[in-house]
Amino acid sequence: MKKRIFCLILSAAFLFCGCTDKTNNEVAEDVFAAEENIDNNETEENIETPTLEEYVSEIEVIPTPIREYGDSATYIHMENTLVARILYPVTDIEPLKKKMDEWMSETVDDYIRMLQGRNDDEPAELTVEYNSYLINNRYAGIKMNGIFDMPYMAHPEDVAVTFNADIKKRRVVELEDILVEDGKEILTEMTVERAGIEEDDVNKHILDNWVITHEGIEIVLERGAYLPMSEGTKTLLFTYEEMEDILENPEVWEEKGEDEIENTTEASVEIKIEEPEVEEDKPMIALTFDDGPSAHTDRLLDILEEYGGKATFFLVGNMVDKRAETVERMANEGHEIANHSWSHRQLTKLGDQELNDQIMNTRAVIYNLTEVDPVLLRPPYGSYNDEVSAKAKELGITMVNWSVDTLDWKNKDADKVYKHIMQTAADGAIVLCHDLYPTTVDAMEKAIPALIAEGYQLVTVSQLLESDGEEMEAGKMYYKK
Ligand code: ZN
Repeated sequence: MKKRIFCLILSAAFLFCGCTDKTNNEVAEDVFAAEENIDNNETEENIETPTLEEYVSEIEVIPTPIREYGDSATYIHMENTLVARILYPVTDIEPLKKKMDEWMSETVDDYIRMLQGRNDDEPAELTVEYNSYLINNRYAGIKMNGIFDMPYMAHPEDVAVTFNADIKKRRVVELEDILVEDGKEILTEMTVERAGIEEDDVNKHILDNWVITHEGIEIVLERGAYLPMSEGTKTLLFTYEEMEDILENPEVWEEKGEDEIENTTEASVEIKIEEPEVEEDKPMIALTFDDGPSAHTDRLLDILEEYGGKATFFLVGNMVDKRAETVERMANEGHEIANHSWSHRQLTKLGDQELNDQIMNTRAVIYNLTEVDPVLLRPPYGSYNDEVSAKAKELGITMVNWSVDTLDWKNKDADKVYKHIMQTAADGAIVLCHDLYPTTVDAMEKAIPALIAEGYQLVTVSQLLESDGEEMEAGKMYYKK
């Protein structure tokens, strides 16, 4: 609800800017310039254009996923017909791991089969993320949700799946395990009634997607499966209190101790940004890392600190809160923090509002945490079109792809990544890597000192593009210097 308001403020502001006779550049300056705007209002109605500070002060209302169980990992599959990116929690509970792995590979295989023989200009997109809940350190609930979008499809399809595990017994939990004998029938009736489902539409799969949360059991009804498409994917919450009579052991679910999850949005460290220096006449390379921050990012920062190089991190917005300290460290140590969208959507497929949200939510979450305004955007998959360029221009944002692709996500081989970088190293290169993989960080342990030994300075993308006194252009795509 609050998120809507935030979006409305944004769109209203741009709409307002669009009404004047200004060029896009002036609009971008207007939107993000500081207070002078207030005195400089050209319209008769006294509408003030919010500053970036004002926009981002709303950031705490953007729902970031709750991830209490398991470190995040990413399953990536890319081929001509499909790009799939599934964020999932790492677990050491074998049956749970097996179940999630099966779901991911089967889902991707199903879509690939469905897309067989198609010859679209663009691949279809499958993007899935998750929320996870940890109850009394005993039960984990995992709720994955995402979209499948393919060229010429009117609306993206919702994707939803849930997993539950008993951590103590190290096994997957089925609904039958926690309910009394006829509990499932009763819960089915409760679901049908609560959601208003027609009798004819009920089948035995209605409770397939259920998840343990702090408040109760959620039932996820996939869009179109039991209710009209227009209702979207529907989530029903049955509190533990409501379910008392049908739960096998109601006392298990009583929350013990702190039930509030700590909010890490607030900056906990004072930010003192180190101004890195650049020697104009020395060859330079910009190492860039996409899709983080991850559990491996700090080790990469250690390596950069040891050898004195700077890098650019294209962050996925919905990952920032979880690793706020790592992001603060990036800022403090003089690395460049940049935008890689909010949830790694393929930007070319989005409508104006969604495109705006994907860029601005990430910009805001980074700004709120570090007071750095990330003005560089790398569109996920490097994929952009005229609409994306126009939006970047409107927002005063410069787009950056790469001249060297290490394919580290695919080969996951430290030696290959290292060799590739050393063979293609050149003055002005922008190198694409991902700090999601330990193998990439392993490669950096060798590549960073080796590049420095060869006489390169490792600079941020902005430093590279702005060397020789040049200015970066909003809306333009850069690949190298
Ligand atoms: Zn990416």
